[in-house]
Amino acid sequence: MKIFCVGRNYADHAKELGNAVPDEPVIFMKPKTALLQTNAPFYYPEFSNELHYEVEIVLRICKNGRYVEEQNAEKYYDAFTIGIDFTARDIQAELKKKGLPWEKAKAWDNSAVIGKWVTFTPELLANPIHFSLQKNKEVVQLGNSEDMIFSFNEIVSHISQYFSLNIGDLIYTGTPAGVGECVTDDVLEGFYEKEKMFALEIK
Ligand code: MG
Repeated sequence: MKIFCVGRNYADHAKELGNAVPDEPVIFMKPKTALLQTNAPFYYPEFSNELHYEVEIVLRICKNGRYVEEQNAEKYYDAFTIGIDFTARDIQAELKKKGLPWEKAKAWDNSAVIGKWVTFTPELLANPIHFSLQKNKEVVQLGNSEDMIFSFNEIVSHISQYFSLNIGDLIYTGTPAGVGECVTDDVLEGFYEKEKMFALEIK
């Protein structure tokens, strides 16, 4: 199982971190050890002093493929959830400054959170997905899939030009504006519309 992530897929988020809006998807990966298992505790990583949440729509790949064309991409994912791409922002800032890869900031154990799955229907595919993150019961991020720079289909097609897609792979599709810091004892809750998809306490 592979975990793909898209960076800078919402213009307002690219801007808030001082990054240019990309002309092709920014792709990075997390290993499968990054996936926080359901109901497992989440611990603040000891190597960071600036842990950031990034709430994202996560797609589940349901079909093996390579060189998928955009117009066929919809057949390759069957469900979505809301998740968090946890980021050690202090580590990432150091790595970015040196032009080094991001893994130590992004791909560490349990840095990928997912909620419960929602199976796509033709109606869901045809409509925008609204999602949000609450920290300690206050909304800190609001997202709308319509604001993505690269659509689900563009992302799936692009990734498949470089990597085989396999059943069970996950794609984090990028975070909207409002990323920020979280600390021990904070409670993070992800929502799809009004429905709670996950709740997580930082220990
Ligand atoms: Mg992200």
